[in-house]
Amino acid sequence: MEKLDPKFAEVKNYINGNFVPFTGDFLDVFSPENGEKISRVPLSTAKEVNEAVKAARNAYQTWSEMTIRDRSQIFFKYRELLLKNSRELGQLLSIENGKTLPESIAEVSKSVEITEFACSLTQLAAGELLEVSKGIECRIEKKPVGVIASIAPFNFPLMVPNWTIPIALVLGNTMVMKPSEVVPLSTIRIAELLQEAGLPDGVFNLVNGDKAVVEALCDNEGIDGLTFVGSTKVAKIVYKRATATLKRVVCLGGAKNHLIVLPDANEAMAAADIAASMSGCCGQRCMAASAMVGVGDVDHIVAKLVEESKKLIPGENLGAVTSKAAVERIEDYINQAEKDGAKILLDGRNCKVAGKDGGYYVGPTVIDHVTPQMSVAKEEIFGPVLSIMRTESVDDAIKIENDNPYGNAAAVYTSNGGSARYVMSKVSAGMVGVNIGVPVPREPFSFGGWNESKFGAGDITGKSSVEFFTKPRKQTTKWSAKDKKDWMS
Ligand code: NAD
Repeated sequence: MEKLDPKFAEVKNYINGNFVPFTGDFLDVFSPENGEKISRVPLSTAKEVNEAVKAARNAYQTWSEMTIRDRSQIFFKYRELLLKNSRELGQLLSIENGKTLPESIAEVSKSVEITEFACSLTQLAAGELLEVSKGIECRIEKKPVGVIASIAPFNFPLMVPNWTIPIALVLGNTMVMKPSEVVPLSTIRIAELLQEAGLPDGVFNLVNGDKAVVEALCDNEGIDGLTFVGSTKVAKIVYKRATATLKRVVCLGGAKNHLIVLPDANEAMAAADIAASMSGCCGQRCMAASAMVGVGDVDHIVAKLVEESKKLIPGENLGAVTSKAAVERIEDYINQAEKDGAKILLDGRNCKVAGKDGGYYVGPTVIDHVTPQMSVAKEEIFGPVLSIMRTESVDDAIKIENDNPYGNAAAVYTSNGGSARYVMSKVSAGMVGVNIGVPVPREPFSFGGWNESKFGAGDITGKSSVEFFTKPRKQTTKWSAKDKKDWMS
């Protein structure tokens, strides 16, 4: 583990351009890599939320009245700073989250990509103008919404905050961010880099804490829009509570993603992709392939994917999960599947990593002959575990996918275009893939699921997010008294 800068020993809130020491209760923060305490995070209250919202409201007028070109200049600099500090950011992220260094650096790269998209928003935010009647023009401007609250989960400490920060801010909004209390350190660096890039005080604020902060953000009437990313259970609570104060809200929830594998799939590609999808970020991804449905005889692909999964070595190319409780939860799922009669082809339970005794590790796990009624088939496990179900027909496989309440991602593995098209047209998910284990849309395409994986209209990134982070103002203008009047004028 890299040595942490002493400034991370105690997390501070960032309000109106200042890192503010907190007086109140703190929560300890542990590194999943070895279980050691690395920091402590404030359990902020409605008081700190009010201060941050006040700062964001005060900054709003000046910031929103700047040209989008001027606002985006700051984010060109922010992009450079993300790139320049990529390795250090990656190391910090690995310490607090437990993912491997290459995965952490990939998270920085994704943050860079979204920032690049935000810097291109002059194109999408240009608005429209048309002479609708002789001498009369209608014009649509995209105006910012106001103060946005952005609430993040633990599994992408850098990328998920960066889903919203560059886009919302370039479009002229100001923000109060609430990171996960489990991984508060990367967001400190985000605040520092935004400050270094020249972001005016108050445009971005950071309030740390747990559900009390989320509740205060939902209830605060000084906030105009709210985004949430986390579990479905909390997404539902937050969506109801934040819309009750008439904010515009989008809440992204959990997932159970299905890969439907047909016997004609390319064996090597399918096996490598599925193993990578179920295990990337130690299975703690809302896009992870958690369930595979094999149609007909796919034994050759299953054998190959077990072989691929055996190449995943905890503590080396497979990171740690977030907590001891997560290890126990994941192992309970595997125990239950075994009790229910499923066959454990690869067993990641009781995983120990030499030199990292206190770390939270689960090895790659492949469970075959799972039935749709088992908990490993139905619930989000959020660990490096793949549950394999078997069906005779494609329609039965599609039915299993359709019956799950989530709808983040689904994919099909086949070499037949007709089969791929058929499955794609029938699965019930917002992000679908053909021969892609993690069908994440890249910018400018937007990110967001369906069903119980997302509540609210629109997606959180890409073109769709421009609608969320702006409100259209329609102007109608006439300057000439001479033009003939018609029924519209
Ligand atoms: P979580 O729902 O426990 O926490 C998310 C945020 O909500 C945190 O900031 C937390 O402090 C806060 N929170 C927790 N309980 C709360 C409550 N009762 N009331 C109000 N706020 C509360 O999620 P997590 O464990 O941090 O993250 C993992 C989950 O996030 C998984 O379900 C994963 O699928 C999901 N996720 C979804 C996406 C997506 O794009 N759909 C992306 C990343 C993660």
